[in-house]
Amino acid sequence: MADRAEGLEIVLDDGRRLIDAVSSWWCVAHGHRHPAIVEAMRRQAEKLPHVMFGGFTHEPAVELARRLAEIAPPGLDRVFFADSGSISVEVAAKMAVQYQNALGRPERNRLLALKGGYHGDTSLCMALSDPDGMHVLFKGLMTRHFFAEKPSIPTNGAWDQSGADSLRRVMAEHGNEIAAIVCEPIFQAANAMNFYHPEYLREMRRLCDEYGALLIFDEIAAGLYRTGPRWAHERSGIMPDIMTVGKALTGGHVTLAATLASARVADTISAGRPSAFMHGPTYMANPIACAAACASLDLFAASDYSAKVAEIEKAFREGLAGVERLENVADVRILGAAAVVELKGMPPREAIDDVIDAHGVWLRPFANFAYSMPPLVSDASAVRRICGALADLASREPAPEKDDGGFHE
Ligand SMILES: *Cc1c(COP(=O)(O)O)cnc(C)c1O
Repeated sequence: MADRAEGLEIVLDDGRRLIDAVSSWWCVAHGHRHPAIVEAMRRQAEKLPHVMFGGFTHEPAVELARRLAEIAPPGLDRVFFADSGSISVEVAAKMAVQYQNALGRPERNRLLALKGGYHGDTSLCMALSDPDGMHVLFKGLMTRHFFAEKPSIPTNGAWDQSGADSLRRVMAEHGNEIAAIVCEPIFQAANAMNFYHPEYLREMRRLCDEYGALLIFDEIAAGLYRTGPRWAHERSGIMPDIMTVGKALTGGHVTLAATLASARVADTISAGRPSAFMHGPTYMANPIACAAACASLDLFAASDYSAKVAEIEKAFREGLAGVERLENVADVRILGAAAVVELKGMPPREAIDDVIDAHGVWLRPFANFAYSMPPLVSDASAVRRICGALADLASREPAPEKDDGGFHE
């Protein structure tokens, strides 16, 4: 039972304190209950907690859109607000289809996504996530999209043209039915914990241009410095047409996400029929959430988060050295403030609880992945403690095989 939280720690109702090694599903970038964000939310709540975002606009939304356009890759300056990451991906996919429709290409109504990807839990997002991943139970609910094989060449590995063969093959076969390619750039998080090569993204850009498809980058997990640079795709030097941002946007204080698009996408949609973009959720651009996000972006602007993440990466490399030799460990990989210890078998629930208690570190492993994505303000001593907990977990006896792959345990 969580009672309160501050900084790196969650405080339980019995007084125990746990370091949040997963930053509450990767969103608590500046630490829990940051005073500047809490204060911004309080002030906004006292003035205008909510107003409909059709016909009205308001200062926190205008300010946040302006700031997002400022820090986004150049040219992505049209902003659509969504109430969660999943919704922002739905919005991105709908934008791509509406864009193609406005160009007189209504047959382009499907997307190409990557095996190993994850884009959210609503039905369109599930349909774009790894077809054999955590959503397999709901296959019957989903529209079929196209999939390329999971990118297999690691971020710092040697690129080989064959690494994008499957992508090229699907485009050659179905390029004229595809509205957009969607991926998590560099870091496939929730379904695969896979770090892949930036050249793969350059190939994607080339194929999108060749076949007239849009390119959507889902930066919800990897964006805002998680892997080092502000946007994970910066490593590739190319740009998407549409990009989603969420999770750390409000520093993990309240739900909000955004879909950013180029002027070309927005203007093409507006020149089509219908000319409005067909999406308008009740709580779109909620003022309290926008105020929290503005305060969060202030914090990102006030110090060098890439440098903080480089320190965390270094501490992970030191703290996990040798763990790859443990008998139950299949692989250890680290990029920025994300460390993955892939196990051959996950220990039983009781062993995981015991590790959490013994180290005072909150871990939430899934499938065969013991991992940490701590708050980006974590210091070296906190990272050392997290590494101790991960190493301990990796040393425990694995449980007998389970039939659900450990997803959503
Ligand atoms: C978490 C996540 C989402 C979904 O965001 P929610 O806010 O949980 O709906 C989408 N894409 C990626 C890459 C994510 O990590």
